[in-house]
Amino acid sequence: MEKIRMKTPLVEIDGDEMTRILWKMIKEELLEPYIDLNTEYYDLGLKHRDETGDQVTAEAANAIKKYGVGVKCATITPNAARMEEYDLKEMYRSPNGTIRAILDGTVFRTPILVKGIDPVVSRWEKPITIARHAYGDVYRNTEYRVNGKGTAKLVFEAEDGTVSEQTIFRFDGPGVLQGMYNLDASIESFARSCFRYALSVKEDLWFSSKDTISKIYDGKFKEIFQRIYDEEFKTAFEQEGITYFYTLIDDAVARIMKSKGGIVWACKNYDGDVFSDMLSSAFGSLAMMTSVLVSPDGYYEYEAAHGTVQRHYYKYLNGEETSTNSVATIFAWSGALRKRGELDGNQELTAFADKLEKATIETIEQGVMTGDLVQITTIQNPRKVNSLEFIQAIRTTLESL
Ligand code: NAP
Ligand code: MG
Repeated sequence: MEKIRMKTPLVEIDGDEMTRILWKMIKEELLEPYIDLNTEYYDLGLKHRDETGDQVTAEAANAIKKYGVGVKCATITPNAARMEEYDLKEMYRSPNGTIRAILDGTVFRTPILVKGIDPVVSRWEKPITIARHAYGDVYRNTEYRVNGKGTAKLVFEAEDGTVSEQTIFRFDGPGVLQGMYNLDASIESFARSCFRYALSVKEDLWFSSKDTISKIYDGKFKEIFQRIYDEEFKTAFEQEGITYFYTLIDDAVARIMKSKGGIVWACKNYDGDVFSDMLSSAFGSLAMMTSVLVSPDGYYEYEAAHGTVQRHYYKYLNGEETSTNSVATIFAWSGALRKRGELDGNQELTAFADKLEKATIETIEQGVMTGDLVQITTIQNPRKVNSLEFIQAIRTTLESL
């Protein structure tokens, strides 16, 4: 059989610990036998990040800007314990944070649905993708502890010297106070990423906030989404037969529960923080959740939503058997290869990505799965396999399709 050729390189970003082990297995068993892999490789393993003073992370992000699509393995975000473990020169920032700052993107998280791993909400037949605006609001707040009587004011001094002053509250006794902000430019790029993503997956887009209460702040979010939709995306949405829908956050929550899924739900920063955790637990497992960073300029970076699975890695290092779920990492690859195929008009590559996902899902539905899924499946007598056996079982299914 002739291998599938790739026109443009895919940016391959390697990572750490157990996911780095899975990465190699996935390439050897599920990709290299079928594709003449054309990747530009960046090693974001913590050791190499340290050797390059974290320069490699910025280089990887810039390569995604150059080629348009990347696939990333989970990476360690250094903390005090990692400083010691890896003898690091510096406590580097989270690679995802660095990459996101360079690409200015929004992260979309989507559960992978399989028969036998049932969502808690039985009506959900299709995945619900959550898009979180990861800038500003309460995450960049300024807080103040009020200790007694006094007046709180909101003051803005414009560069031309004009001052606007409003009383927030006259305190009769102790309390708390908080100030926060956002930027039109950030909201605009968030909106563009969301519209672009909804178009790419051909699903309706919902955006929710609380503009009835927060008329200026949330009102601005609503207004920007509507304007960008009308000016830049309306025609394309109508052509695809999908809709853009704005509603209040509490109404969105109620409607999501009654929906069948198949929706992209754009949330403000805090709402996205809360509801992405609700959705991932309601759909089953973090190991069955993919994540893609979409920049407003149309660059894509695919990854698994989970971390490096450190606990399993230490077992692996001890020579013990591991049963780590590689589904989200496989889907990161298939997502990236499909997007690369779409951009290059490479139908063989797109078809392979579809086939790989189908083989992965069918393998689990046949009852072959890793330990994390065995615990939650409704399939009778599931067969628990180790990390490599699971990937090999997918290969067997793939060959049979
Ligand atoms: P984690 O790697 O997501 O793992 C937490 C636990 O969840 C695991 O111990 C395991 O539970 C279960 N789990 C997660 N993924 C699994 C999989 N694929 N298969 C089976 N079980 C899975 O989170 P963490 O241990 O808190 O973080 C480890 C490292 O990952 C940290 O250094 C952190 O900085 C990094 N991290 C990176 C990213 C990223 O690159 N996007 C995201 C999050 C965290 P059991 O142990 O009970 O089996
Ligand atoms: Mg959270």
